[in-house]
Amino acid sequence: MDVTCGTPLTDFPGVGEARAKKLEKLGLTTVDSLLHYYPRDYEDRRQYATIQDAPLGVRVCVAAIAAERPRLSYVRRGLTLVQLKAADQTGIVYITFFNQDYVEKAIRQGEEYIFFGAVEEQNRRRTMTNPVFERVSSRNFTGCIMPVYPLTAGIGNHLLASLARRALTCAGQVPETLPSALRQTHQLAGVEFALQNIHFPADEEALSLARRRLTFEELFYLSIGLALLKGRRGGRKGSAFSVPEREAFLALLPFAPTQAQVRVMDEIAQDLASGRPMNRLLQGDVGSGKTAVAAYAAWVAIRNGFQAALMAPTEVLAEQHCKSLTALLRPAGVRVGLLTGGLAAAEKRRVRQELAQGELDLVIGTHALISENVSFHNLGLIVADEQHRFGVAQRAALAAKGVVPHVLVMSATPIPRTLALIIYGDLDVSVIDQLPPGRTPVETYVVREDKRQRMYNFVRRQVEEGRQVYLICPAVEEDGSGEGAGLQSVKQYADRLRTEVFPDLNVGLLHGKLRPREKEAVMAAFAAGEIQVLVATTVVEVGVDVPNASLIAVENAERFGLSQLHQLRGRVGRGKHLSYCVLLTGAQNIDSLRRLRVLASTTDGFRIAEEDLKLRGPGDFFGRRQHGLPQMKLADLAGDTRLLSQAQQAARQLLDDDPTLSRPEHRLILAQVRQLFAETPDIFN
Ligand code: ADP
Ligand code: MG
Repeated sequence: MDVTCGTPLTDFPGVGEARAKKLEKLGLTTVDSLLHYYPRDYEDRRQYATIQDAPLGVRVCVAAIAAERPRLSYVRRGLTLVQLKAADQTGIVYITFFNQDYVEKAIRQGEEYIFFGAVEEQNRRRTMTNPVFERVSSRNFTGCIMPVYPLTAGIGNHLLASLARRALTCAGQVPETLPSALRQTHQLAGVEFALQNIHFPADEEALSLARRRLTFEELFYLSIGLALLKGRRGGRKGSAFSVPEREAFLALLPFAPTQAQVRVMDEIAQDLASGRPMNRLLQGDVGSGKTAVAAYAAWVAIRNGFQAALMAPTEVLAEQHCKSLTALLRPAGVRVGLLTGGLAAAEKRRVRQELAQGELDLVIGTHALISENVSFHNLGLIVADEQHRFGVAQRAALAAKGVVPHVLVMSATPIPRTLALIIYGDLDVSVIDQLPPGRTPVETYVVREDKRQRMYNFVRRQVEEGRQVYLICPAVEEDGSGEGAGLQSVKQYADRLRTEVFPDLNVGLLHGKLRPREKEAVMAAFAAGEIQVLVATTVVEVGVDVPNASLIAVENAERFGLSQLHQLRGRVGRGKHLSYCVLLTGAQNIDSLRRLRVLASTTDGFRIAEEDLKLRGPGDFFGRRQHGLPQMKLADLAGDTRLLSQAQQAARQLLDDDPTLSRPEHRLILAQVRQLFAETPDIFN
């Protein structure tokens, strides 16, 4: 059979309609798709042993002759055995297969096979159970490094491996996409070698060469795509604002801005005046004062006669932003409105109408602001607060609607630089690397369950001193993600505190299932000091600001990401009082404790984020697939940083040389980039 890259898998023997359907689920339709379906792991099947010398309990290949016809026996319903003896020059091995009736016919007496499996010893007999086997003459799955593929129901690993073997017969015809000069500079293997060895590595070194080449390629296309995206933006026109004297804005602030805040305001002012749409990521640790900077950007837009929108991740936070920004900007004549899902229908309608008619200057809301069909009179600026999700795809979607506002994305989750380059590869980055004066770091303690009573005592003492306390539980009911048994149900927990532990204190409860009205009432009561102890899920995670709160205790702290805990910790230490963070954990395991102690040992958000990244990977870090980037097959965006910067450099060079990839020799690269970004709207055209 003549195999080419375009050959449909249904042309392969053994692939009927039913199997083809299942393969399709894995994205496998043609030889080409199979060649690029990489193993997720490998099993080393290279070690051979004789029956006598085989190390016990280690999977090895044993070459042996079937000394008898396999015997099939029914033990009971649902359990059958096939048994046979096999021999080499050193001895006999007794082989048993459970529930694999086909073996009775598949193994023929007198023929030689390779059996791959663990040899054991029972009653001085050497045995093997359920080994992989194949004829010596047609070796495919033994004596090699065996690929282990991601599977789906009805598609086994051996099937995929044998299909891959066949597909690889045309690996020599796969066109080389990477120019040879580039391969030489970066010492990258050729495509045929890479494909052969990613599936069936000749040895470890070949595997690592193959992987390096294919990973580089992936990062290369990613970098090109992001650069093109950035370039498109560069060519687009945005509104050029005239930037009024800053003094007028600073006069509105109740404090003097830090140097870092001033520097970032400058950077933003330049963007806004440039005539190109701003696309800036503002990173600043919890409490570094990002809100004031956002207010400045909004103020500039509004003074230019445009509207501004601020999106917060939760309604609680939107409401809080609305209050503080109203207080700040109303004296300057800015008309501020709130638009959240919790508003009454009539109220929502009114706000929408005012937005459409230009009667509101600044609107604050949740994500729904851009996804629902809100129409603006003339939107000039979007600020996304704590929205990692406001990624490539959202910006592209906005652009597709013909709206090209300036965009400012703010994040308190300090993203390690390498990762930021990718995730926000098409953004400019500003950093507020300075906290307002007079802050003392929050004292942080990791404690075990047995110190619970002491923690309660500590809570009481803080309250007696006039302070307030947050008690955080993992979100059980918030998003219905059902984190499983063993977690404290927030409600029960709050009830117990009210009745047993602090019957004399005012204990409030805040969780995601409350109606916005109720949430607001609870937050207002806490802010006013009426509630002394606030039991809450992570709805208070970002941004909530009650300076009198001096203690935050987190239950089941091991369930949280470090960056998330760092965010939570930022809820205290916002006023003049010395503040504390207590991380309660039932975890016995050394790693969890060590991880939590990182938090106790540093307040450096970047360090904490790096640690998080190491442990959880970028997927978790940002919420799976929420950053809007294409899925990587091989590349690990957190781990492959060296290769990543090489790929970025190569991408830059290529685009300097041929900015639109229109030269014939770059046609293949362009096609690959298109394919990678197929799900991102509007990157090309
Ligand atoms: P974040 O960066 O976490 O969003 P906020 O903007 O909420 O931080 O600011 C945290 C607190 O610090 C707020 O109470 C804010 O009023 C205050 N703040 C911000 N900038 C300054 C400053 N330059 N001097 C004093 N206080 C400030
Ligand atoms: Mg904030």
